[in-house]
Amino acid sequence: MTTSHYIAGRWVEGQGSDCISVNDPAFGQPFAELKAASVAQVDQAVTAARGALPAWKNTSASERAAYLRGFAEQLGQRREALITLQMRNNGKPRHEAEIDLDDAIATFGYYAELAEQLPSKNRDVPLAAPGFSARTRLEPVGVVGLIVPWNFPLVTSAWKLAPALAAGCTVVLKPSEVTPLIEQAYGQIADALELPAGVLNIVNGKAETGAALSNHNGLDKLSFTGSNSVGSQVMRSASAQCRPVTLELGGKSAIVVFDDCDVGQAVEWIVAGITWNAGQMCSATSRLLVQDGIADALLPRLQAALEQLRVGNPLTEEVDMGPLTSQAQWLKVAGYFATAREEGLQCLAGGKALDRDGWFVSPTLYADVPKDSRLWTEEIFGPVLCARRFATEEQAIAEANDSRFGLVATVCSADLERAERVADALEVGHVWINSVQAVFVETSWGGTKGSGIGRELGPWGLSAYQSVKHVTRCLG
Ligand code: NAD
Repeated sequence: MTTSHYIAGRWVEGQGSDCISVNDPAFGQPFAELKAASVAQVDQAVTAARGALPAWKNTSASERAAYLRGFAEQLGQRREALITLQMRNNGKPRHEAEIDLDDAIATFGYYAELAEQLPSKNRDVPLAAPGFSARTRLEPVGVVGLIVPWNFPLVTSAWKLAPALAAGCTVVLKPSEVTPLIEQAYGQIADALELPAGVLNIVNGKAETGAALSNHNGLDKLSFTGSNSVGSQVMRSASAQCRPVTLELGGKSAIVVFDDCDVGQAVEWIVAGITWNAGQMCSATSRLLVQDGIADALLPRLQAALEQLRVGNPLTEEVDMGPLTSQAQWLKVAGYFATAREEGLQCLAGGKALDRDGWFVSPTLYADVPKDSRLWTEEIFGPVLCARRFATEEQAIAEANDSRFGLVATVCSADLERAERVADALEVGHVWINSVQAVFVETSWGGTKGSGIGRELGPWGLSAYQSVKHVTRCLG
């Protein structure tokens, strides 16, 4: 049993009723176990964060920046262990696990820089009215609860932790029960850096632990990344207490391919958009809209590319795609394969679980999927791509926007003016043009419609943890 909760600067054993198995999805077998934090331990973590807030928020911005740089450096020192753990627990191929680690490092580095710039943001406000002066103060929101999922554990937590600490907030982080060991690195780093006790607390557990955190009346804000169903519950708790919430939720994103594309290049972007992390990405471009003139050339090439992907255990084989991370996810994806068969969808590739131990599925392509198919409208969270054809630019935009989600989109066209025009018309938070899903810390992350509320990354990610105050003085 692993000692796995970091509360008030100490590692403690869980006292909750849930036991958490940490699995290797390549075999479908557990390799570690831990006990969840109890409701009382969640309360202790929030109390510790509350106690640490007055001193932490009064540290200088440069002091906080130094801690953040320490996080970046210490992540680098744990490089091999963290890459291996992500491969083993998430089933990520090595190159993906490396990119996740580099993303987390870059995030801490970026918010260290933004923290250093903070004093210059507290500036005088020019007023038209004579006789008064006013100045801005950007204050930390306070004690924040951070609840995250399992698909990019290092990254999702870094996107919340780094700006929250930079702003001067103290935090209670609840990682996913599917990947509870990975973010322990953040607690170990806090120890190594002698971060003041209570500034960062980590409680592990399932829904009960998450609910205890999101319902806790000692929080000033809750930032959640995960499913829409849990996001709604988190928002209900926040509304009961009238406190702010950031929600990063699901997606059903479109990739739009126009006739003038190079077929080989388009296939590369499409495959990456649906098979990265075995399709377990909120931003997976799982709806392919392909223009009539290129569809007959593109679909067979796409089918071949998906069938040629090497699927296997990232720890022992050269792979392009690993297993799904959890049995629940594997069963969910298999359920969509069954629905596709019931709906009579045309399967061009995959459509089945692999005949081997572990939670593997084949990269899958369905063609000419009806607009009312559950596979076209619902987030599957696996390597399952649905394709439809379109005739005109207007039709492509209308179909891409015809979704309750609005996270991201990709546009592929040699006509850059058209690509920019389409990008502007898409109702999403981020659009890539002729690109894989390159994410930069300087640009924002977040969605419109059912994909969430608020933005992470960039200066917007920092603002999410700041409260704006103005001090106005009568000069007379
Ligand atoms: P999930 O909603 O099941 O769990 C997310 C977190 O919430 C976990 O830590 C879980 O333990 C916790 N939780 C569960 N029940 C809770 C409750 N009642 N109260 C409070 N917390 C609770 O999601 P998941 O399966 O871990 O992740 C997959 C989902 O996350 C997908 O829908 C995906 O699109 C979304 N996601 C979104 C983004 C984004 O940036 N928009 C990024 C990654 C994942």
